[in-house]
Amino acid sequence: MAAVQRLLRAAASGGSAMAAAARRRMTSLATDQAPSAAAGFSFAAEERVRRRPMAERNVQWVFLGCPGVGKGTYASRLSRLLGVPHIATGDLVRDELASTGPLAAQLAEIVNQGKLVSDEIIFNLLSKRLKKGEDQGESGFILDGFPRTVKQAEILDGVTDIDMVVNLKLREDVLVEKCLGRRICGQCGKNFNLACIDVKGENGLPAIYMEPLLPPNNCMPKLITRADDTEEVVQNRLRIYNDMSQPVEGFYREQGKLLEFDLPGGIPESWPKLLQVLNLEDQEELKLAAA
Ligand code: ADP
Repeated sequence: MAAVQRLLRAAASGGSAMAAAARRRMTSLATDQAPSAAAGFSFAAEERVRRRPMAERNVQWVFLGCPGVGKGTYASRLSRLLGVPHIATGDLVRDELASTGPLAAQLAEIVNQGKLVSDEIIFNLLSKRLKKGEDQGESGFILDGFPRTVKQAEILDGVTDIDMVVNLKLREDVLVEKCLGRRICGQCGKNFNLACIDVKGENGLPAIYMEPLLPPNNCMPKLITRADDTEEVVQNRLRIYNDMSQPVEGFYREQGKLLEFDLPGGIPESWPKLLQVLNLEDQEELKLAAA
């Protein structure tokens, strides 16, 4: 964790030769002129020797999956179960958007069109988040929404070992409905979904039933919809996912780290099944704590 954070901090801030190399790397990544990411990081090998063996640290997992599939829902439940932070780059971007910081206006334009934010900005935000966590004694992580391109995956691979990558899958028509039904309570920040998904199995696609995840009465009047959850922007995000992020699945598949998980339905059906495939189903006490 510290190695990742050190690298990203160096990449984003600067001051030393290492930081300068990282910054050069970041700039070239952002402008698409660099050779392969792994080759460009001259200090990656130095970082690699600082990797901690799996037995001495907490899990380092990644959640992949299309917009609306439920990465945030399952990653946050598992983070409570395993006592590791759930770090969602989409949340970091939205926090920055909601701030009065210099990046806010620039980010709004990109995010509201469903496009990807530059690697430089993402590494900067992630670095700050990891630093904060490190100061609070965090160990391990479940990453959600990162890496989203093969370049980001290569950079991450250059500095730390990812133990497992969970790839959540759901049919595309359901993804769109789920994104359109998504609501956030403007006060407590909890996520809900007003969509009731009930689609028949057809053309080889499975039938899916998902109950709405309704808010309590006190959240109801404070519900907000993400500006990028309109049909047009969701379709754009799905296209961008297929072009830019799906290759990340192949990257981890080749490493033998990809766990494919077809969601069988809503949380009541999917959560126990996910725990089972992760060999966590026996941890009843922890399961209750995460519910
Ligand atoms: P989704 O519901 O599409 O999975 P997220 O909440 O993960 O969305 O992210 C919201 C937006 O934040 C993305 O559409 C993108 O603009 C930006 N973003 C998040 N993570 C990344 C990343 N790793 N690289 C580039 N842009 C990102």
